Amino acid sequence: MNKKLIGVDLGGTTIKFAILTDTGEVQQKWSLRTNILDDGRHIVPDIVESINHHIDIYGMTKDQFIGIGMGTPGTVNFANGTVKGAFNLNWRESQPVQELIEEGTGLKFVVDNDANVAALGERWKGAGNNSTDVVFITLGTGVGGGVIANNQLVHGAVGAGGELGHMNVQPGGYLCTCGNHGCLERYASATGIVQLAQDFAEQYVGNSKLSAMINDGEEITSKIVFDLAKEDDYLAVKVAEKVGYYLGMASANVANILDPEFIVIGGGVSAAGDFLLDFVKNSFQEFAFPTVRESTKLKLAELGNDAGVIGAASLAKKFM
Ligand SMILES: [Zn+2]
Repeated sequence: MNKKLIGVDLGGTTIKFAILTDTGEVQQKWSLRTNILDDGRHIVPDIVESINHHIDIYGMTKDQFIGIGMGTPGTVNFANGTVKGAFNLNWRESQPVQELIEEGTGLKFVVDNDANVAALGERWKGAGNNSTDVVFITLGTGVGGGVIANNQLVHGAVGAGGELGHMNVQPGGYLCTCGNHGCLERYASATGIVQLAQDFAEQYVGNSKLSAMINDGEEITSKIVFDLAKEDDYLAVKVAEKVGYYLGMASANVANILDPEFIVIGGGVSAAGDFLLDFVKNSFQEFAFPTVRESTKLKLAELGNDAGVIGAASLAKKFM
């Protein structure tokens, strides 16, 4: 019988788990609330207990497993399997995650950054078609990403590789949480899109439901912007076009350097679907190097929330 992989997707509100075959078929899934109290010191023991408990209730034994892979927020030290600076987990200090989980479960363990792991998931079982060269961009409250080049995740010198959200797309533009101005994240995240809409509304006097809502002080979201754009609301279309413009420029800049086979766009904002993707593709065509314009395909992510556990599990394939 083929051995199984365990994938863990650690987030600020839930911890998702899955047991997969070594070919990436999800066989069991479960989740836990993340207990971030007491400086997040319950998180790792909760993970250990939950894995041991579920292996038990599924009537399985440890020797049926290849290992455990996990995606985490924060900064990962790949040499010793520690994580720090994960502020939504209350992990300020370095956490010996690998040591504690290996000790507690008796299984081999490997950890990587959550966006990198989602990139691996989409590459393996989603829109990335198991290609050797895939870029993943996730659009949520922020913009994250992962780069797989020549079959390897790009970690960079200190693990900060693949921070696509902080690519500069507008010199002197909106101030980003990172301290710089004009990062992609400020234009293509859920919050960035709302800010663009507010700025556009301020300068627009024509007929638009979106601008009327903003002028009335109604709360708007990126979903409202795209829904109105799909109904042909003039201002909403302008905002959607601009978001696509920045995303397409960023995608072209990445593609001009890496020539990936696929750039996969996921995260909550990507629910806008082909409507958004078409704007991105137009802008990509404008900025991409001619060869890359043909070789790189832009696609929507396919795995949704499962990308994290599937990609995390794929990390553990290195123990096969
Ligand atoms: Zn930034």
